[in-house]
Amino acid sequence: MKNFEQKYGKIWRSQFESDPSAKNKFYLNVAYPYPSGAMHVGHGRTYIVPDVIGRFWRMKGYQVLYPMAFHVTGSPVIGISRRIAAGDEKTIRLYSDLYRVPQETLDTFVEPMSIVRHFSQEYERVMSRCGLSIDWRRRFTTVDPTYSKFIEWQYLHLHDQNRVVRGAHPVKYCMGCDNPVGDHDLLEGEHAEIVKYVLVMFSWNEYAIPCATLRPETSYGVTNLWVNPDVMYQKVRVDGQKWILSPEATEKIRLQDHDVILDGEISGADLVDQTVSNPLSGDIQILPAAFVDPDMATGIVMSVPAHAPFDYIALRDLQQQGKYLDITPVPLITVAGYGRCPAQDAVERSGISNQNDPAMEVLTQEVYNAEHSKGRMLPEFGGKPVKEARVEISELMLERYGSAVMFEFDNRNVVCRCGTRVYVRILQDQWFLKYSDPEWKANVHNDLKSVTLVPPEVRAEFTRTIDWLNDWACTRRVGLGTKVPWDKDWLVEPLSDSTMYMSYYTIAHKIREIAPELLTPDVFEYIFLGKGDPQGIPRETLDDIRQEFLYWYPYDYRFSAKDLISNHLTFQLFHHDALFPPELRPQGMVVFGMGLLEGAKMSSSKGNVILLEDALDEFGADTVRMFLVGSAEPWQDFDWRNELVSSVRKQIERFWNTINEGIQSGDSYDIDAWVLSRMQKHIEMTTDALESFQTRQALQEAYFSIESDLKWYRRRLPEGVRSSAVLNSIASVWVRMLAPFIPYTCEELWTLVGSGEPVGFASWPQPDYALVDTNLELSEELLSRTVEDIESIIRLIQIDTASITLYVAPAWKWDIFRIIASASDRKKVMGEIMKNEEMRNRGKEATDAAKQITNQIHRFPPELVSSIAAGGLDEHAVFIEVQDFLQREFGVSVSVVNAEESSHPKARAALPFKPAIVVQ
Ligand SMILES: [Zn+2]
Repeated sequence: MKNFEQKYGKIWRSQFESDPSAKNKFYLNVAYPYPSGAMHVGHGRTYIVPDVIGRFWRMKGYQVLYPMAFHVTGSPVIGISRRIAAGDEKTIRLYSDLYRVPQETLDTFVEPMSIVRHFSQEYERVMSRCGLSIDWRRRFTTVDPTYSKFIEWQYLHLHDQNRVVRGAHPVKYCMGCDNPVGDHDLLEGEHAEIVKYVLVMFSWNEYAIPCATLRPETSYGVTNLWVNPDVMYQKVRVDGQKWILSPEATEKIRLQDHDVILDGEISGADLVDQTVSNPLSGDIQILPAAFVDPDMATGIVMSVPAHAPFDYIALRDLQQQGKYLDITPVPLITVAGYGRCPAQDAVERSGISNQNDPAMEVLTQEVYNAEHSKGRMLPEFGGKPVKEARVEISELMLERYGSAVMFEFDNRNVVCRCGTRVYVRILQDQWFLKYSDPEWKANVHNDLKSVTLVPPEVRAEFTRTIDWLNDWACTRRVGLGTKVPWDKDWLVEPLSDSTMYMSYYTIAHKIREIAPELLTPDVFEYIFLGKGDPQGIPRETLDDIRQEFLYWYPYDYRFSAKDLISNHLTFQLFHHDALFPPELRPQGMVVFGMGLLEGAKMSSSKGNVILLEDALDEFGADTVRMFLVGSAEPWQDFDWRNELVSSVRKQIERFWNTINEGIQSGDSYDIDAWVLSRMQKHIEMTTDALESFQTRQALQEAYFSIESDLKWYRRRLPEGVRSSAVLNSIASVWVRMLAPFIPYTCEELWTLVGSGEPVGFASWPQPDYALVDTNLELSEELLSRTVEDIESIIRLIQIDTASITLYVAPAWKWDIFRIIASASDRKKVMGEIMKNEEMRNRGKEATDAAKQITNQIHRFPPELVSSIAAGGLDEHAVFIEVQDFLQREFGVSVSVVNAEESSHPKARAALPFKPAIVVQ
């Protein structure tokens, strides 16, 4: 089937160019790729699922736009290029072995744009092979001069609105790249949070020894400090004051907007047993502790054994060795559920015997949470709730006791893609997007209400993100991208230049015709907002561009991955809110699950991926599409398993063969009405599923359900007949129903069963309810279930069959079935049945039947139960009608008997819709 890929690939290249028309539009878009490596099958799904949806709406008669562009802003490619130039083996192996970049191309990768050019071409080629119905005229990259003009307009607009402001904020910073970094720039430690500590200052001679804490209120209960005796600490002057810090801490403090001068060193061992003091704790001693990590905060820790389980257990260890026996925990907080010293209480209760026990972390969190949420300071420490005391004491220390603030990651190793460790740095002249602005947040909350979210459960995560988003460092010193128009030392960073490009797609192919220097901000103000009076470009040109924007916008659905909710997907809501009027803001989003490979998380850097192109080579585009769309719903995680993908290829082959056989001419048969009736339901269910983005469910209906019906249909045709007139018309419907999923196969089949136009533009089948015959479907259901039962009995008894007798249930059992099926409370139904005198006379026979029927009803699908109860099925007549078929199927005589007219003991087992079967 691969030759179709070449044949149609060329034709499709321009077939999906989409212009405004009289039709209704459907505009969908995806998060554009960052082309710095080859695509794997996980990327494939990201673009194929939207394509299936786009193809569906196109066939439904909509003008569909599916555009694509390439995101090349930022520093990752610069880092890659630098590593390749420096001969970094790991990077070179990734590009030469996994991505299979030819050596002569790899040689050019010392130039960052060369990486981008190579992979964006590759992406486009591989995406086309996947059969994506993209309008490639609109393709752009985020460093195109025209696109930069669009970004300049946006940022000037935001700057005018006071939404981009300068400030000092802690950011994640890579010294290797000399740049702030976002989560997607990181190799390790994505989602690490910056935590703000208060440094409690303990004085020792002329020095201050700072200890970082999140709980400054516990300073009253400090009984000692911990230092690591094996660490060589540093004497440093911080903003003119003398501090003692671990070497790691000195470097961290230096990046946090302090003036730091190194004065000398002092070993941890020399600090042990020294006395230090603080206004809240008084004089205390420094104790040795090997567990103190010099790379955590300042590298010296204050100990609050009454309220910190780690401190308690460390002190207990020392005292068990007979040391520091004069130190006793000082309680300062009272909290319900714990004794006088909560930490001691918690440790002793849990029976933890040493500080390396992993349960210590959990225990610590429990104590901290309990104290913070419901703890109260003891009367001698003010008696206030801990929540209030924490704020007050923190202010007191910062204002009066020489405390400072220190930022640190929440306990995770954070590493840039360039391999350098990332630190928290305070940037003074950085530009920030003011996502913290309460009014802006409130507006975005309001906008979110009218956005359709698929699946609906993700709404809570959007709400949460809007709430906790803080000001966002939106500029960088180095990298590729657009310069901040009013401060050319800075570039707009990658996430910040990707919030509005969905609107740019609508004009990309037209605005490119205008020289970039003519694209002043007022041009965009006119195109997007209809404001102002720009000069220098003919007005009809601008009006035409604006009309195109207004035709497509707002976009209908944006497809993106789950992990982008916490940044990109929410950012774009903020920016649309700030720039566009309500009627032009996002309408819907579909959020994707992640990809697994044979059960493990896909990761390019770990080599655990299958390249999309390899999959296309091995299985063909349609198989890859059908697998990716059919194995899970879009929002569920999916698992690529080669074995399952192979079986999908066989399914497509069966479909191909069935259509080819079906198009032979043939006659009409009684069973035609049944298969036509069933088809209407499949059309309806497939349509419903695709309208709600359930691509897996849609494929179940459009492929498997139809395939199984056709199998039954053929079985019910007269002996030797393989095709019929109705199969011919079904072929046309079926090919169209699968066209969004497996377009190559269907395009080729459509030349046989279609009406001339490409299948991608053929009309989506509509159900014809006049063809639906519920009773006929019910009798075929009865027949197929009975055939299955007979087959399993024959398998079971393993004797030569001479005859088959079917005993059909008497009318009174049908009465019971109807009563139970319609009962609101099935527990009370027995009483209902026994109100009837006839049933009472039957006694045990009736109660037994009622029990069996109840079981039977539990096993049937609910829709089947209601149609059985509603339809007046004459089972005897149904089986008499198909007697010939049954005799042919089983090669023996088949008789049909009313159970009540027989004395055969088995006859009594007959139930409605489940005849008793006797095989002899
Ligand atoms: Zn870096």
